[in-house]
Amino acid sequence: MSTPLIDLQFENEKVLMRVDFNVPLNAAFEITDDSRMRAAVPSIQHILNTGGSVIIMSHLGRPKNGPNDEFSLRHIVQHLSDLLHVPVDFASDCIGEEAIGKAGELKSGSVLVLENLRFYPEETAGDIEFASKLAALGTFYVNDAFGTAHRAHASTSVIAQFFPGKKSFGMLMAAEIINAEKVMKSPQRPLTAIVGGAKVSDKILIVENLLNVADNIIIGGGMAYTFFKAQGGHIGSSLCEMDRLETCLEIMQKAKEKEVKIYLPADSIMADAFKADANTQNVPSNEIAENWMGLDIGNAAVLEFREVLLNSKTILWNGPMGVFEMPAFENGTKLVAQAVADATAAGAFSLIGGGDSAAAVYKFGFDQQVTYISTGGGALLEYFEGKVLPGIAAINQA
Ligand code: AMP
Repeated sequence: MSTPLIDLQFENEKVLMRVDFNVPLNAAFEITDDSRMRAAVPSIQHILNTGGSVIIMSHLGRPKNGPNDEFSLRHIVQHLSDLLHVPVDFASDCIGEEAIGKAGELKSGSVLVLENLRFYPEETAGDIEFASKLAALGTFYVNDAFGTAHRAHASTSVIAQFFPGKKSFGMLMAAEIINAEKVMKSPQRPLTAIVGGAKVSDKILIVENLLNVADNIIIGGGMAYTFFKAQGGHIGSSLCEMDRLETCLEIMQKAKEKEVKIYLPADSIMADAFKADANTQNVPSNEIAENWMGLDIGNAAVLEFREVLLNSKTILWNGPMGVFEMPAFENGTKLVAQAVADATAAGAFSLIGGGDSAAAVYKFGFDQQVTYISTGGGALLEYFEGKVLPGIAAINQA
């Protein structure tokens, strides 16, 4: 990996920093969750404190037809200034005269935010000319936007070629990579992956790739029922992808060949409707009654999964065990979160992989009891699918 940002000094450097300030805004354009902004603060402050200036590049939302005030990054400028305790300037176009002028005059210790990159379709198209115009604004490139690391966009990947020997990961992105590598490249064994959520089709590439590294794979959530169906079980009206039955059998077969243990939930909480106040019963997962559906893992499954987790040294978790948004079906996810926390307390490394699993860990109050919660979403999933992320590759290339 390139030299960590924390070990670099930025005297007289104008650092073009790609961040993920794609924060949620309410109707009054107030930020309703600033965690993505706060995550970038340590990197920005390190650059400012060591004599550099920072030019912030980001996207916000999905503007379709060029500039649109609804998606303007001017809405976040004051808040960034409050977080950093320095004035923050704003250029109302990410390239062109105003940006060139303001970047040129930027003094060390100062911050400039460029307008939303995605007002130009060239950004997501990975246009090299657009990337070169952005590159001309700075002398050093930092990428701290892990959430878009799986995209070969102008500002996340293409731009890096203009900064040979003068580019680095931001601290957030470096932490994401180091923690993901602890699972995929140098895991302490046994390594147990917990994969859940709604669909087999969304998680299939991850499970296939995990077969190459994991010792145990726990499969829960809606996707488990396609596995039970494939093995001849009765799953009532549980979630099922009929076109994936063969895939499930292939995974079970490959796991056997590679001596990876796959754990499916022995029992389930079945419900007579997809409703918080439905009637429920704890039954074997392959004996779900007609017109009933499995909406959570059952008590025996929780105990078995807990045992596996407590014997693990590395844990990766992606996807809930049931419909944890409804209290009647939250127990499996909550108790698996508890088991991950207990395993962590006993010395295991645990990585919570973004999205719904992160939401669940926060919801049930275990966020301080796991090793690392990724901010990564799609980028993390692609990493675990074994793909090379363009945002990482671009920094690692000379
Ligand atoms: P994913 O985005 O694929 O990780 O799926 C997360 C969603 O799967 C959550 O909203 C859960 O409510 C849902 N889910 C988990 N288990 C089940 C299940 N047994 N039946 C239906 N939906 C489920």
